[in-house]
Amino acid sequence: MFSFSERLRRLPPYLFVELDRLKAEALERGMDVIDLGVGDPDLPTPPHIVEAGQKALERPENHHYPSSVGMSAFREAAAEWFEKRFGVKVDPASEVVTLIGSKEGIAHFPLAFVNPGEVVLVPTPAYPVYHIGTLFAGGETYYLPLTPENDFRPDLAAIPEEVLSRARILWINYPNNPTTAVVTREWFSQVVAFAREHGLIVAHDAAYTELYFEGYRPPSILEVPEAREVAIEFHSLSKTYCMTGWRIGFAVGCAELVKGLTTVKNNVDSGCFQAVQEAGIAALTGPQDCVEEHRRIFDERRRTMLEGLQKLGFEVYPPRATFYLWVKVPPGYTSADFCARLIREAGIVVTPGNGFGDPGEGYFRIALTVGKERLEEALSRLASLNL
Ligand SMILES: *Cc1c(COP(=O)(O)O)cnc(C)c1O
Repeated sequence: MFSFSERLRRLPPYLFVELDRLKAEALERGMDVIDLGVGDPDLPTPPHIVEAGQKALERPENHHYPSSVGMSAFREAAAEWFEKRFGVKVDPASEVVTLIGSKEGIAHFPLAFVNPGEVVLVPTPAYPVYHIGTLFAGGETYYLPLTPENDFRPDLAAIPEEVLSRARILWINYPNNPTTAVVTREWFSQVVAFAREHGLIVAHDAAYTELYFEGYRPPSILEVPEAREVAIEFHSLSKTYCMTGWRIGFAVGCAELVKGLTTVKNNVDSGCFQAVQEAGIAALTGPQDCVEEHRRIFDERRRTMLEGLQKLGFEVYPPRATFYLWVKVPPGYTSADFCARLIREAGIVVTPGNGFGDPGEGYFRIALTVGKERLEEALSRLASLNL
């Protein structure tokens, strides 16, 4: 009786329906399913963060409406963390906003800066929210393919002039989900120069900057001095501190961009629960050995899976960050066929690459979100499949 709005009807088809069905079927058959599909760490939130949240929960002053922009104390903690980590000073009053998870900020950001008919430049394959936020704001998505030929970086020089003249935002995401690609500060410099030349906003999704390996350390785009004029960066506590369920992150960068996003938030939400922000302060300002430990655990899993897959003849893009592996499907399969076979015959759930966008066809993504023994079990099941 009630038809969905045009914007909901224009949502991209959910490509994992068939996969979800096959997974449910495997579980029903009593199969021991190894789920390497979702990007949600299996590790618990470190105890000192949970305790800070518990204490904050008991204080009545935290039971009221928070402010949309976030507690000053949280924004100060974020600014302090940011300076320690990237060597860049930001003003907590004007250049930081608390988010109810970075997804919230990413989805809302285009509402502040995109008019109907204007273009948003979105990488593909990618986290779906860049496109969906654009769609909800009435904007038009122009996709920038990420392929191994361009090291999974968008080819900015290939964007037609006509598109550029209508473009408002350029989304980027490094370390990258799903391809695991990383970039240097020099590449960020080029992006910032390009954005300044064409009057573009650069929105950088930095959800994975703390999950790095092999001596690589991901930079912030704000390490480029001119980035302050054109860029906003979205940070998440979800992956770094294993806090996906708490819903907390922050955006940092150009004051005008932060103000636009805050104005949207003022009008659609009432901010992040203060007890959660206090837990966030404990995470950002407390001891960081838990993050070191998370890196160590994910690194061990990464090595196990990378070596094991390579031994089995898989072509894997070797990751220097994130907790994913981006792997080519064996010859003769589509991503969907291969992933379906893995569930049906081996009880292993992975994500088909085309679910993140067309150029992801021919790949699948593994999330290293189960223990090493389970990964070894997955490898031995893969070996017995005789692919
Ligand atoms: C997990 C993830 C996010 C969202 O994280 P939240 O802070 O939990 O909303 C954003 N971007 C990418 C690429 C992610 O993988």
